[in-house]
Amino acid sequence: MAGEPQSDCLFCKIVSGEIPATIVRESETTVAFRDINPQAPTHVLVIPKVHYPDAATLAAAEPQIAADVLREAGAVAADEKVVDSGYRIILNTGSGAGQTVFHAHAHVLGGRGLQWPPG
Ligand code: AMP
Ligand code: ZN
Repeated sequence: MAGEPQSDCLFCKIVSGEIPATIVRESETTVAFRDINPQAPTHVLVIPKVHYPDAATLAAAEPQIAADVLREAGAVAADEKVVDSGYRIILNTGSGAGQTVFHAHAHVLGGRGLQWPPG
């Protein structure tokens, strides 16, 4: 069924607790944890607890949960005190854009200067 946990999915295993992560926030529908290979002083991933392969697919199927991910990304930025300096929410979609984990996730990056356009 759509959204069901996938046995071969790294982020489903973080949701279930099978794989540890440094969790910084949790809501009824989302988990936020530090990226294992941080690209900025603040680098947190916000994921839905349900499994969808990417953010747009999640939004099409469960728009409220996609909104929850965005709200929680903003809350992470506030917790990390990067709102005033600015931060970026990134939704890599497809391997050509650098997506390596096919469970929807938002990167929250901040705490340093961020180039535009991104590479
Ligand atoms: P993406 O490349 O957009 O699919 O993002 C996947 C992110 O997950 C990368 O930034 C990885 O560093 C991160 N990552 C992979 N494994 C883990 C893990 N076990 N805990 C935390 N972050 C992870
Ligand atoms: Zn998953």
